[in-house]
Order: sequence, then C-alpha cells, then structure tokens
Amino acid sequence: MDLQTPHVLIFPLPAQGHVNAMLKLTELLLPAGLNITFLISSKDHRSLCGYATVHLRLNSHPGFRFHVIEGLYEGPMDTGEKLSLMFDSLTEVATPLLRKLILDFPVRCVIADGINGFSLDAAEGTGVPVIFFRTISACAFWAYFSIPDLISSGELPLTGTNMDELIMNVKGMEGFLRRRDLPSFCRSEIKNYTLHQVSNITRRSTAAHALILNTFDDLEGPILSQIRKHCPNIYTIGPLHAHLKSRSLSTLESSNSFYKEDKTCLHWLDQQSPKSVLYASFGSLATLERDQLLEFWHGLVNSKKPFLWVIRKDLVLGENDEDKVHIDLEKGTKERGYLVGWAPQEEVLAHPAVGAFLTHNGWNSTLESVVAGVPMVSWAFFADQQVNSRFVDVVWKLGIDMKDTCDRTKVERIVNEVMVVRKEEFIDSANHMAELAMKSVCEGGSSYNNLDRLVEDIKAMGV
Ligand code: UDP
Repeated sequence: MDLQTPHVLIFPLPAQGHVNAMLKLTELLLPAGLNITFLISSKDHRSLCGYATVHLRLNSHPGFRFHVIEGLYEGPMDTGEKLSLMFDSLTEVATPLLRKLILDFPVRCVIADGINGFSLDAAEGTGVPVIFFRTISACAFWAYFSIPDLISSGELPLTGTNMDELIMNVKGMEGFLRRRDLPSFCRSEIKNYTLHQVSNITRRSTAAHALILNTFDDLEGPILSQIRKHCPNIYTIGPLHAHLKSRSLSTLESSNSFYKEDKTCLHWLDQQSPKSVLYASFGSLATLERDQLLEFWHGLVNSKKPFLWVIRKDLVLGENDEDKVHIDLEKGTKERGYLVGWAPQEEVLAHPAVGAFLTHNGWNSTLESVVAGVPMVSWAFFADQQVNSRFVDVVWKLGIDMKDTCDRTKVERIVNEVMVVRKEEFIDSANHMAELAMKSVCEGGSSYNNLDRLVEDIKAMGV
C-alpha cells in the first residue's frame, strides 16, 4: 500500500447489517483517493468470502486490505445479553489490536462503528481522530442518547402496564413516541447492563471528531437538529446503497450478503402482477417463536395476497432446519406463496411486482424500502427497530406499524389496509420519499455534498 495516500482504518461491529453499511462506506471512500484497512472478524470474513461479491471488488483495489481479527465472540446477538458478550470481547481483543494498528501505521483517522465506543480508548493519546459511524437511524440514535434524560425524569424504568402512554423526554418526539416505541432495551430492568451500555456508548459520540449517519436530511432533518446540539460535526451521507449507484460505484446485483441469495424468486416475481406481492423478511438477526411464525403464515395466507417470504435457517427459535420449516409451510402456501432462505433483497424491492414489505425495520431494510418506494408493514423485533417502525407509520406515513402483536387477524387486516384499502395513499408517499432520497445522493444533493466534505475533512487531517 502506498504510504503517501491518506490511510483510514475502518472498524464495524461484527454483524451483517453493520459490516454491510461499513463496506458501502468503504466503496464510496476508496475512489476518492483514500487507502483503507477494514477490520473484520474471522467469522464475518469467512461469510463474506462465501457469497458476497463485494470482497472481490475491494480486494482488486490496490488501496484496500482486510485485517482479519481472530478470537472475537462468534455466537448469536439476538438479545441484549448476547450483544454484551460481543461488547466484552471487543474491549478485550480489539482495543489493544486497534491501538497497535494506529501506532504501527501512519493512519489519518479511524472510522469506527459508533457502537464500538472503545475505539476512542484505543486512539487515546495518539493524536489520531476517531470518526464514529452509527449504522442506525438518527431517530433511534437520538432515542438512545436520551435514555439518561428518561431516567432522570422518571419515565424509565417503565412502570405500570400502559405501553401506549406518551413519552415526554425525547425532545422532538413528544407528540407521538409511546412507551412501546422506545428501543427494546428500555423494557428491561433499569439496572440492565445493556441499557446502560448502549446509552453510555451513544453519549460517547460527543467525544468523537465527527459522526457519520446513513440517512438523509429530508428524512430526518428535525431529529438531526436535536443531535447537532451535542454532536455538531455530522455527515449525513445516505442512503448509502443509493449513493453508490448514483456515483456509478455499484449495481443492483452487487452483493454484500453473508448468505447465499436464492435468485429463483426473481423469476417467480416476473410472473406476478404489478404491485401485487407482499415481500416479507425479518433481516439477519431477528428470531420468531414457532407460534409467531404460524400466526404470520396464517395472516399472509388469509390476506389472499401473493407473498415472497424469507425464512432464514435460524429464523425459528430452537429449529435449525430450514427444510422442515419450509415443508411445513409450503403445504398450504403453494398457490400464493414463495419461500426462500435468503433473498437478493435490493433486487426484490426494486421489482415492479412488489407492492409492500413486511419488515422488522432494521435500518438497512427500512432505507432499502424507502429508496425502492415500497410501503411497509412494520413488525419490529428489537433494539432500534421499535423507534424506526413508529417513524415509518406516524412521521413518514410510509406504512403501518403493527408492533408487539402478530396474531393472524391483525396480520391479514394490516396487509390489506396497506395493499388495498389505503394503497394509493401509501404509494404516493412512498414515491415522494423515494424521490427525495435519490435527490439527496445525486450531484448537488445534501448527502452527495456531505460525502465530498467528509473526504476533504479526512484529507486535511494531520497535515
Ligand atoms: N437482506 C438480504 N436478503 C434477505 C434479508 C435481508 O439481502 O433475505 C439484507 C437486507 O437487504 C439488508 C440486511 O440484509 O441490507 C439486513 O439489515 P437490516 O439493518 O435491515 O437488519 P439486521 O439484519 O441488521 O437486523
């Protein structure tokens, strides 16, 4: 690697959604004349080399290399407790490693996942700036940031049973954020380790040189204004996947997926009528109880809409047999449903046959739906998804949030509400937001300009 070119270390949380977003950022920064070392866990590196094409593109770039980290936690992260195991292993294993890399190379800056707060400790005293990249929405970031205010005002811990009561101490969300819309960690005991961990880490963003967010100003402007009071140097450069395309750096078919994509579903979609299909997927981490799976399945079948459903092999708790789950469901699905283990999601959402997205509202999925102009039926699983799904419904008016319940009658009713009864209304607002998203990443748009500003900022560091 040429040592004259500014060198950046990039370090995501080892989880598909985070690695995915950081890889996209990497693909945007490399052509701007920066060298990049990308820190990745050995497990994620193996997954990426399996099916994703992004590592081939990146490895062919002379200014890029992966640095593989051994010894990080490799278990699931579908609960706060398990996430804490990852945080602990990052502190133990990755902090000394990151410090060594910072000291060994002439590094211009570190771009660390803002949830890896320890990167600030690793860089302490080295003079190397740390930029945080939070891969969540601004609204979820702001809810995490506000947790200490919720505790001091007595709104946390949640007492009593009325989860529809409004929350008053997340500024800018007073009129609509209910208790049930707070990040899922707020539902646990106040002493809960994860709750404090996510809140403390989020507050540490104020100590970073800057904050990068995968969002755009027209989507989250008012909440960004709240965050800027504490973190003035913010770069909103999203939606990243659309930004890559607007700069001709990727195509719809490029894949960052850890799983093998089943592209047969695209042929199935080709046979469906325009905007007739419900696409259902709960991302890479969410799990369902078997009862919940069956409620969703009955609801989808009863809605009489054709559906394409991603059933990951580890989606159903305690059942690691994708084939068995598929066979059970396919008995009643043949006419209208198509099941896959993993879909080429961006291509699916861009397909003209897709009329709505039943989603857990992970931030990547949410942005992918926004860009494709596809209305949403939201069923948040955990963490930031609870906040995102509330915004989808009452702020952006892009769908309906069916948070916390998934009984079959509700699934059927809400799918029909989005795809039939209020179809035009949701399609209009989804198209409008998609236009704003594309405007932001095209030349002269806010995200486009912010990325150029970020590159200039990095190049000016330490010279
Ligand atoms: N995804 C995919 N195929 C699938 C399901 C998901 O390619 O069948 C991708 C999706 O496009 C998104 C990512 O996996 O980029 C999921 O990220 P998100 O933030 O939505 O959720 P998480 O997996 O982190 O819960």
